[in-house]
Amino acid sequence: MDERLKQIAENFDNMKIGLDDKFRFSCKQCGKCCTEREDILLTPFDLFRLSKKLNMTPNDFVEKYGETYIGDYSRMVIVRLKPRGSIRRCPLLKDRKCSVHDAKPRVCAMFPIGRGFRLDPKKPGADQITSDNIEYIFNGAHCGNAEEHTVREWFEYFNIPIKDEFFVEWQKTLSELSEIIQIAEKKFTMEKTMDALWSAIYVLMYMRYDIKQEFMPQFEKNRDELLTMMRTIPAFYSGRAKNVG
Ligand code: SF4
Ligand code: SF4
Repeated sequence: MDERLKQIAENFDNMKIGLDDKFRFSCKQCGKCCTEREDILLTPFDLFRLSKKLNMTPNDFVEKYGETYIGDYSRMVIVRLKPRGSIRRCPLLKDRKCSVHDAKPRVCAMFPIGRGFRLDPKKPGADQITSDNIEYIFNGAHCGNAEEHTVREWFEYFNIPIKDEFFVEWQKTLSELSEIIQIAEKKFTMEKTMDALWSAIYVLMYMRYDIKQEFMPQFEKNRDELLTMMRTIPAFYSGRAKNVG
């Protein structure tokens, strides 16, 4: 896990903030949020909006500005903006400004607020993820403090829904896929088989979108197709175990 994300996970309780709690924030232009960053991770919706903004396919966008890897902990395919140069600058920072301001990734638009779920590892993750369980953190203690806001006002200002249907559905999907992939990795010894599974996740979740069509119906269709295929993996193993045993 990226060092910064690890620190956030470890300090989650101290950083926690309620939807109607006040926080003080103003930008003193230190550049930290667009430089020295390895963790601008893109959701499929971020990638779709950025591709649409720059009138390119998601595949061309990732080739030009992004990179992919398998998460150490989640074992999922992760897509991120590829930092450049010695100061690890975001590739979309031009003349010290965000060149995609109205389509910037949600994680950038929400800053200094972050959001996530706290899950009980003993229960299936996807069952615990609902719009009522979203938790928020404030991560801008090093920024200026000239203005006062609430989280709710901040989200409204940036046009981010509080009950964000895509965010919830995506987190559920990630959680289920991560559980399946971790089972598969313990069972499949052939590298080629895992590569085929990761490739299916990458193509169906991130790539197979027409930027001229609406996002959500395409996401739901791709997700349903992928999960239908991936859900056969744990069942396949429990079935085979019975036959062998
Ligand atoms: S938002 Fe905060 S981290 Fe980003 S440039 Fe402004 S002061 Fe720096
Ligand atoms: S997408 Fe824009 S706001 Fe986000 S890190 Fe890059 S330049 Fe900064």
